Amino acid sequence: MEISFAVSRQSYCKKRQVGATIVKDNNIVSIGYNGTAIGAKNNCEKKTDMLKCSNCKTIFKYHKKNSNAYCPSCHSLVSKKRLATKETVFHAEENAILQAAKNGKSTKNASIFVTTSPCINCARLIVNSGIGAVYFYDKFSDLSSISFLKKSGIYVKQIKRDNFMNGRFKNDANSRYNKN
Ligand SMILES: [Zn+2]
Ligand SMILES: [Zn+2]
Repeated sequence: MEISFAVSRQSYCKKRQVGATIVKDNNIVSIGYNGTAIGAKNNCEKKTDMLKCSNCKTIFKYHKKNSNAYCPSCHSLVSKKRLATKETVFHAEENAILQAAKNGKSTKNASIFVTTSPCINCARLIVNSGIGAVYFYDKFSDLSSISFLKKSGIYVKQIKRDNFMNGRFKNDANSRYNKN
């Protein structure tokens, strides 16, 4: 997990920096952080004129640069944060899984350590890449991916940072694999 935190700091993304490390038999298979495709400008966000009302979830276009933004549906004041994540940004988990594939390393029964719990898209990749355990630190707002991972038979655990320092996670993962 310490490695995942170190890796996340490589990310150029402003909204959230995420790091992932895939580990198998106590060896690092691959690492990844969120970022744009290889060769693209490493800049995850784009300016947008679209705003989202946090109250009623309406998405609307905002024109006047210097006045307050009000939701056209519920008329509440909307935050003018206008940075949206680009569609071409890869998530840390995607990059870690792709890097393993690129280097011909198996992710079967490996564990993935992520600084933020996976989104539903990455959860699907994790399931089909054969990864057996997911350890995360921060909970991402959408928790449906966690129940999806558990339903797919994957061991999921939120951990405190110091639990990783004394290696407790190893025991959890081993006891799971011994049962199978
Ligand atoms: Zn609204
Ligand atoms: Zn994701």
